[in-house]
Amino acid sequence: MTTLAIIGSGLVGRSLIYTLAKEQKKFEKITIFSSDKITTPCSLNSTAISALRGITKGHSSLGDNLVEGFGIFSTHVSESSPYGVEKIFQYNGATQKLDQFKLRYPDGEISHTFVKEPIYLSQEVAYMIDPKTYLHWLLETSKQMAPFSLEEIDDMVTEVQEGEEVVLKTLNGRNLHFDKVIFTSGSYNRYWKDLYPDSKLKSSKPSQGSYLEFNLPLWERESFSLTIDGDNIIWNNPFKRLYIGSTTNDSIHHLPPLSELKEIYMRLNSLVDFELPKFHEGELKVGLREKAQKREPYLLNRGNLIFFGGLYKNAFTLTMKMATDLSRQYL
Ligand SMILES: Cc1cc2nc3c(=O)[nH]c(=O)nc-3n(C[C@H](O)[C@H](O)[C@H](O)COP(=O)(O)OP(=O)(O)OC[C@H]3O[C@@H](n4cnc5c(N)ncnc54)[C@H](O)[C@@H]3O)c2cc1C
Repeated sequence: MTTLAIIGSGLVGRSLIYTLAKEQKKFEKITIFSSDKITTPCSLNSTAISALRGITKGHSSLGDNLVEGFGIFSTHVSESSPYGVEKIFQYNGATQKLDQFKLRYPDGEISHTFVKEPIYLSQEVAYMIDPKTYLHWLLETSKQMAPFSLEEIDDMVTEVQEGEEVVLKTLNGRNLHFDKVIFTSGSYNRYWKDLYPDSKLKSSKPSQGSYLEFNLPLWERESFSLTIDGDNIIWNNPFKRLYIGSTTNDSIHHLPPLSELKEIYMRLNSLVDFELPKFHEGELKVGLREKAQKREPYLLNRGNLIFFGGLYKNAFTLTMKMATDLSRQYL
């Protein structure tokens, strides 16, 4: 029987393990590596909303995958009731470029919901995820279902040697042998681009996202996600957290763009009909997501190595579909 190593214990690595456990794949052992203190997981610094935002099938392969991924995740939620996932409404509004906006969201109407002055607003079903709770659920549920043993190692993989078996060397001096290795290291996947130089890994880049997070234990209203002119405000009622952001910059570090976040806060503050907490009470959160070619996710199979990444749009719903594709095509 085969031994498998998965490098990365974020959303993608854990969704893959969950899929393999659910499909009852007969591995001898799966070892999952993480080194979260050094390679901070994007998954835990994510606003984690998934909505189709006007995307329909038949226009691009990414669009088709997003729609299919959303459907697969909806089934996953209704069949397995994962912890940390709530079905909510995503509201999309605009005060500018209305003609363009109405083409994308034809079902909207002029509405007073959330705002001081009426705006054109459309609403759709979405999923709100608390990443920490959902990631914990994925791993714990996998342990209960898996026909293989599952080992977690908190150590950074620093070297890969290919042969009949793959040898992984780590920062803390481990030297371990596996039949197959899958890279689910998010924006850190690019570190391994020399192992597969002709692939999409070559052009993959980290892309910074940031937002403000407020803990508001006394707030009482239904969860919602509201986007106006591209600015987001999200209320997660079960976890009593409000998020304001998010920004996207082609930056490779974790320092937040303070003035940009302040501008988003001020714009939203002038529009919404409820009182926002003070800007300085928010915690600044930053994550590095992986932006691959055309923002499309990839599955690359080469010998004993598989690379799985590039989750950029709707990562939380698309990942489950991609993990199923990987499992059926390559394992
Ligand atoms: C601000 C922000 C907002 C976002 N909002 C949304 C949203 O609303 N909806 C949505 O669907 N997506 C959103 N995303 C994107 C989504 O969060 C990411 O695409 C997703 O979390 C990526 O998951 P991952 O598992 O690929 O990577 P990560 O979560 O980064 O996990 C990588 C893992 O690999 C490990 N690792 C890396 N290198 C090594 C190594 N050499 N050895 C051992 N371990 C290693 C790390 O320790 C970590 O465990 C957002 C992202 C950001 C930054």
